Formats: sequence, structure tokens, C-alpha cells
Amino acid sequence: MPGTLPLRQYDLVLCDIDGCLVSEGQEAFDLRALALVREHNRLAVERGDRPLVTVCSGRPQPFAESMCRLIGNMLMPCVCENGAWVYHPGTNVYELDPAISPAHLEAVGELSRWARLQFGPHGVTQQPGKTASVTLFHRDTAYLRGEVFPAVAAHCEAMRWPFRVSMTWLYINCDLTHVSKGTGLDRLLKGANLPKSRLAGIGDTTGDLCIAQRVAHFACPSNAAAAIKEHAHYISPKPEAEGVVDILARLVG
Ligand SMILES: [Mg+2]
Repeated sequence: MPGTLPLRQYDLVLCDIDGCLVSEGQEAFDLRALALVREHNRLAVERGDRPLVTVCSGRPQPFAESMCRLIGNMLMPCVCENGAWVYHPGTNVYELDPAISPAHLEAVGELSRWARLQFGPHGVTQQPGKTASVTLFHRDTAYLRGEVFPAVAAHCEAMRWPFRVSMTWLYINCDLTHVSKGTGLDRLLKGANLPKSRLAGIGDTTGDLCIAQRVAHFACPSNAAAAIKEHAHYISPKPEAEGVVDILARLVG
């Protein structure tokens, strides 16, 4: 009987932002491609023949909220700040991970202060808008990776601060050890009541392994790191947002 079978194989796509929907570097948005993602989401709602796309990102909440509005996802929550926040675009509800205590937030403040004093004079800046993590940037990525990264990791260990220090393409992320895109997704998925079999994911770095592990179908744009491509069921021949559009086209029921 028509209407008794699901029209689509997956209900939701968990999509990283940097290196997927937008360039991690300082490049303008690919509005042509992003408009196609928005159209995909419009049809997902209207026809139910394709999965809705939401975002799962290390970016602060305001950036993730903007991306949700841009791609027309006002129905499903998104993961921001590497799991510290789950944000609901439709209802404007912000949920900080309840496992983040005032003591954890104090440690974030201490790390931020130390990094500002230690590396601020050398031109290292901190990404504004983060509330439960610290993200460091320097225009000389080799300096950031070669000198700042090991110093930050060693200091966190020496101070017994509860941070996981990792590099993206251009940033150092210091996230609370018990919080990740994975824990953020677990919170999102628990609320959405969606099993793994109904989920697809898109990512470009090993930070997105958390996405790959929670979905039945994982895909990468062509620019993705080799270490995460190993986990992909499909690798698009196209980069970034164009790659996302190509990946989504294959998920239409
Ligand atoms: Mg990325």
C-alpha cells in the first residue's frame, strides 16, 4: 500500500560545518551549494523523501545557529562547541551538557587566562563565543602546531586540567575530556529517538569519527583527511559544500 513504507532510507544527516558546509579558511560561503542544501531540506520537510540535514560542529552556538537558519533546518537540534551545547533552532532552547559542572567552567576560565598571558603577546588569539572550551588560533599554523600545541597539552597535563587538546586544520581545540561531538550527538539522538540505522553523517577530520560511529552511512567530501576517509562508505569527488550537495543527492529516496 502506498504510504506504508518509509520513503527515505535515512531520517537525519549529521553534518560537520568546517571543511564540509564551509571552508575552514577565510573564504566566502559557497552560496550556490548552500542554497542547494537548503532546497534539499525544504524538500525533506515537504516530501519526506530525503533526510533532513542538521549540523554537528566545534563552532560556537551562534555560528551553528546561523548555519541551521541558512540551510533551512528549523526542526532538528544541532550540536555546537564540540558537544558542549545542543541547540534547538525551532524553539531556541540552549542545552549545556549537564555533565559540565561549575568547577569545569572554572578550569575553562583558568586555561583561557593562562593561554592569554602565555601566548597572547605572540599573536595567539582565542575564538570568541566559546563558553565551555578554549580554541586557539594563529595565522602561522606551523607555529601553532609546532610550538603552541605541545606547550598547551603539556601545561594541561601538569596542571591536571581536564582537557583534550587537539588540532583541526587551523585551530587548537581544548575541550573538556568528558565532552565531545559524540556526547553531544548522544544527547541529540536520545531526544530525537532515532536509531543508528536511520542516520547518515558527513565529516572531514578525525574529530568526526564520533559522527561516523553513530551513523549507518558516513560520507566525506574530497578534501577530507585520509584518516577519516577510511571510515567512509562514500567519498565525494567534490570538495566542501559541493561535496555535501553530491553526497545528499545520493540519499534521496
Ligand atoms: Mg571539519
